[in-house]
Formats: sequence, C-alpha cells, structure tokens
Amino acid sequence: MMRQYELVERVVKYDPDANEDLLNRAYVYAMRAHGNQKRASGEAYFNHPLEVAAILTEMKLDDATVAAALLHDTVEDTSVTHQEIEEKFGKEIASLVEGLTKIKKLDLVTKEATQAENLRKLLLAMSRDVRVLLVKLADRLHNMRTLDHVSPEKRIRIAQETMDIYAPLAGRMGMQALRDELEDIAFRVLDPEANRTISERLKRLHDESGDVLRQIEKELVAKLAENGIKVEVYGREKRPFSIWRKMERKHLSLGQLSDIFAFRVIVGTVDQCYRSLGIVHRTWRAIPGRFKDYISVPKQNDYRSLHTTVIGPHHMRVELQIRTRLMHEIAERGVAAHALYKDAPDAKEALDGFKSPAAESNAYRWLRHLVEMLQEGESPKEFLEHTKLELFHDQVFCFTPKGQLIALPRGATPIDFAYAVHTSIGDSCVGCKINGRHAPLVTELANGDEVDIIRSEAQVPPPAWEGLAVTGKARSAIRRATRAAARKQFAGLGKEIVEKLLAKHNRAFAETEITAAIPRLGHKNVADALAAIGRGDLSGKDMLMAMGLEAGDGKAKPIRKRTSKAGESSNQLSVPVRGAGVNTALKIATETGAVPGERIVGIITPGEGLTIYPIFAKALEQFDSEPERWVDLAWDATSPEQKFPARIKLTILNEVGALAQIAQVIGEGGGNIDELQMSARAAARDFFDLDILIEVHDVKHLNKIMAGLRSRSIVSSVSRVAG
Ligand code: MN
Repeated sequence: MMRQYELVERVVKYDPDANEDLLNRAYVYAMRAHGNQKRASGEAYFNHPLEVAAILTEMKLDDATVAAALLHDTVEDTSVTHQEIEEKFGKEIASLVEGLTKIKKLDLVTKEATQAENLRKLLLAMSRDVRVLLVKLADRLHNMRTLDHVSPEKRIRIAQETMDIYAPLAGRMGMQALRDELEDIAFRVLDPEANRTISERLKRLHDESGDVLRQIEKELVAKLAENGIKVEVYGREKRPFSIWRKMERKHLSLGQLSDIFAFRVIVGTVDQCYRSLGIVHRTWRAIPGRFKDYISVPKQNDYRSLHTTVIGPHHMRVELQIRTRLMHEIAERGVAAHALYKDAPDAKEALDGFKSPAAESNAYRWLRHLVEMLQEGESPKEFLEHTKLELFHDQVFCFTPKGQLIALPRGATPIDFAYAVHTSIGDSCVGCKINGRHAPLVTELANGDEVDIIRSEAQVPPPAWEGLAVTGKARSAIRRATRAAARKQFAGLGKEIVEKLLAKHNRAFAETEITAAIPRLGHKNVADALAAIGRGDLSGKDMLMAMGLEAGDGKAKPIRKRTSKAGESSNQLSVPVRGAGVNTALKIATETGAVPGERIVGIITPGEGLTIYPIFAKALEQFDSEPERWVDLAWDATSPEQKFPARIKLTILNEVGALAQIAQVIGEGGGNIDELQMSARAAARDFFDLDILIEVHDVKHLNKIMAGLRSRSIVSSVSRVAG
C-alpha cells in the first residue's frame, strides 16, 4: 500500500502549490472511514481509493481531484454523510464526491448494449465537473485491474460495461492510454479464446523477428539525426484487442494482418513532423492509401498525428505515428493533458485547431470551451475548477423501475415519460413516483430520476395535459385520447336519451334494432349514431322514427346548436355522484349550486352532458315535459378537501364595512366566495341584497356558515337560492 507521504510527494512533484494538508487529511479520513472493510480480494478496502488517487497523480491532476479520489467511496459505502464531507473538506471537494456518489448509482442499472450511447451521455450530463469523470474513469480502471477477484458472472458484466461505456468514453475524452488498458482487460475477460490466439501469434512473430523493433528504432533515429532532427522513437507492438477489432472490421485473418509493428516518432515542432515524414518516405517505400494527416485535420477528440505505413527494414510493414510532444500528451491523456500544458512551447499551435469548425461536433463543444478558457490565461487549476460540462444540456435521462433508460427533452414531465415508454401507459397514467416518492405529474424530471408511473384503467388523459407535455408524442396521444373520450362520452349520453325514449314505448334498448335503423340515419355504426344524438347533431326522435316506433310529421325537429365545443372541459368537474354513466360530463347548475347532503337530480343536455340541480331548483320545472332527460342521482363519498358551489342570498344593512364583515364570516367559516353580486333595494334604501356563490364541503358546512351570517346584527336575512 502506498504510504501517505508518498502520495503527497507525488502531487507536490508536479504541483508545488498543492495543498498538502488537504491531501493528508483526506488520506487519514478515508482510511478511518473504510476501517476494516475488505475488498473481494481480501485486501483492505482503503487500498482501492488510494490506488485510484495514484492513477490520477499519473495524470498529474490537481489536489482537489486527488482528494476526491481518496474520498470517492466514503458516502456510498460507509456511514459518512455528504454534510460531513462538506464540513471537513469544503464545498468543492464535497460536490466532487457527491457527483461520484450520484453516478455510482448508474452501476446498478441493467445495461443493454442499445442503451450504451444514452448511458455515456447520461454519465457526461450528470458529471457537472470534468474532474468527476476523470475520477470515475480512474475508479473503473482500478476495478478492472483487480477484476480477477470477483465472481465470473460479475466479471463478465463489468467487463462488458467497460467495453460498451467507459472505454469509448475515455476515447472520446481523448485519453487513449486509459482506453487501451480498459479495452485490453475487458477483451481478456470477454473473449479469452481470441485473446490467447492473438497473443500467442504475436509472441511467435516477435520471437521470429528477434530484435527487429530495436533495429528499426535505431535506424529511424539515425536517419532523422542525419537531417538535424532530434527524435524520440517508441516501438510498440499492437495490442491484441486492436488487432482483433481490425480483423473483425476488415474480415481479415491474422496472417493477412502484417503491420503489427508500430512506432511513435516524437519530434519538437509541427514543422519537424512534416520534414520527418518526407525523410521517412524518401528512405522507405510508402504503402499507398495509408497516409493520413491528422495535424491539418484533427480527429474530433483533438487527436493529432501524421500516420503512414512503409515497407521498412527486413521487408516488414511498419506503421509510423509522427507527432510533437504535446500532441503525444494529448493523444495519451486527452482532457487531463489540456490542463497542464498551457505553457508548453507548441501549446498555442496545437490548440489553434479547436477553433476550426470542421473539428467541432456538438459533443465536443465542451472541449472547445475548456480550451477557450485555457487561452484566456487561467491557471490549470482554475481551468479544472471552472470546467463545468455543458453536454447534452437540452436532454434529460431517466429510468423505468426496470432500469430501462428513457431520453427526453429537457423540461419533460412524468407525462412525457409515460408516453415515451408506451402510449397505453401514458393514457392510463394517474400519478407517479419519482425516486420512490409520490410526486406531481407536473414535476420537471432531472437526470437519473427513476420514474414509476401509477396507472388506472379507468383513466382518460385530461385535455389540460396537452399543455403540460413537451414531447410531440405525448401531445398527439393526449389529443387522440381526448377525442376518443369525448366521443365515448357523447355515445353514452346518446344511449341514455334513446333508452328513456324507448321506455315511453315500453321497449328496452336493443342494439340489433338500432343497427337495422342505422342506414336510414346515414351513420356508420351504432356508436356513431349514439354519439351524434349525445352531441345534439341528431335528435332521439329521429332515431325512433328510423326504428319505426314514431311517426314522422314530415318536419325534422331543429337540432339545438351546441354552445360548447366537444371535449371542452372547463365546466366538467370531477363530481362524486352515483347514477351517471362513467363517461358522462357532469356540471353543477350555477344558478343554484348543489352540495353533498342536498337531494339532487341530473338533467341531460345533448351536446353538453349532465347538469346537476338540487331538487328544489326552480329551473327543473322547464324539464317537466321531458322526462327522458331526467336522471336520478345521489352523492357519493367526497374527499375532505373538495368543495362544492351553493348560491345564497343575503339582505344586509347598508353600512360601512358591511361587506367586509360578510366576507370575514364566510372566510373564517372555511368557505370560499366564488362570485358576489350586490344590488340596492329600491323600496328599502337602508338595505341591499347580496347574491353569493360560495364553495363549501357539504350542506352541514353550508348551514353553519349561514347560521354564522344570521348571527351578525347587520344581516337581516339569509336564504339558499332556488333559482
Ligand atoms: Mn470505487
């Protein structure tokens, strides 16, 4: 295990200003927090965060990153809390550790290959600070290095995840060395057979060619030195995984892959890169089609190099990568390298390419942003601290309880989520839990939220949801469902009307009889015809005439024009009554109101629905001749919060502050004033009349408020309005 002072010395070596006290405290704190915890290998758990910190010192990262690495598993795996970390180490370290704790939860999610791209995006989106990602990648690297100790199933799962998610992520961040190692270990686990075959073949080639690598190296150095270019040359054999990938991609056998020797030629300047290339091409024959200039056109992750393949000494195909020191650092360490090479002599040159729009893709905007900050002259340390990843800020990624990842536009609500999973889930959605807690459906979803949709088959999506949804899919589905529900509602209403009319002829509703009459009415089917009656587009009498039950008088009855549009919901309440069809639109008559405890009836109005009246309402008289429109209703259980309208009439003394007194009595009694009209009395000018629509829970509540009003000396009379 690395000693405390060793770790601190490493950091101080590349960053003399590093906060030694911070590193010392983080070391001791993490060691104590992990206490006797053991890893799968049996070694002390603390060894893991320590190794992760050590990997980050190899990348020469700042003290805060190294401290966060030491602490990265404390909140998740020990009794330490986020608050404690903040108290002991401050906001910066705490927020890094929090970021790591958050993305650690993603490890528990089932990952399908098809979701890998989304998961990579999620990782980026959740890591608000680039340092969180760097620690995460180092964490993954150490876990891969110690993979032998976990169970075979877990080993394969972790290796697959590394191959799908972390290795490509490292690649995109330009960290080639990290990517290579992650891939090599994962390949060994996932395809041991292929790995062994390729490794053995490589070894044989190496044995046969003897010291060819060293020889080629020497020749290269000498040749370039003759031309006054000082170089460092690193020979390397290709890795089994990259050979295997090439075999797969190009459908080649191992024997056909000849260029397995590769050299990196590191020179001082960009100019020397091109001059070295010229010398190499004059000395050895270049293989056509293998030359690539990634200096003038860098790769998207800012990889820069000249690539060429030549027939070298001993007629061996040799691949060369020619680059400057900074290009090499960036190729190996990517984002981590940018932080520390601002002062390098060729830094300016190497970074200029970031301004080229050709080199930019959406996903790398942030990298450009990093570099812009660098060029503005901030210190490497500030650069790391202020680098907030701005990736995918227009998207949000959430999970189903089964771990399926759903990508949504930012601002999306659980309603969008439900429709994104499946239309039937959206249509039946009545509520939701976010991360295990009940939450309103209007909640804006955040990255990583687990959303559990609560469903009811009786649900019809309210039209108002259309305004809450941000995805087109949800909006059009809500519109469709609203239309279907309105049609169903009207069909139900139409059926009730026809039933009542049939009852007058002592007939029961029989679908077959109506079906026979359909062609005469010009409708497609029974449901259509009933909906037309419910909407008021067709009269019930016409239906009976078509059925041969009533004689026509030659004149079609004028159809009442609808005043409200189909599907309009403003006057539809959720009124708890029994006796009305489930799909019937209900409203309470505003001229009287109606509250639980009062006897009620419903009156069907084609095209509108059912209007609820208290039995004493005068308005009911006008429907005496139309018994088919009457529906018996009874109140159902109500929820304690729900309130209902009741219209009352008061006569009060015309006195200063009288209105305020009335309002006070109603307010203190727990009622709401919904509408208030005042009229002076012509005969008695000392009094005036008030017409108030108040909202109360039930008739008992109403009576109590009315009694309260009567008790006031200014009130002369209080009564319930009958219409
Ligand atoms: Mn860890």
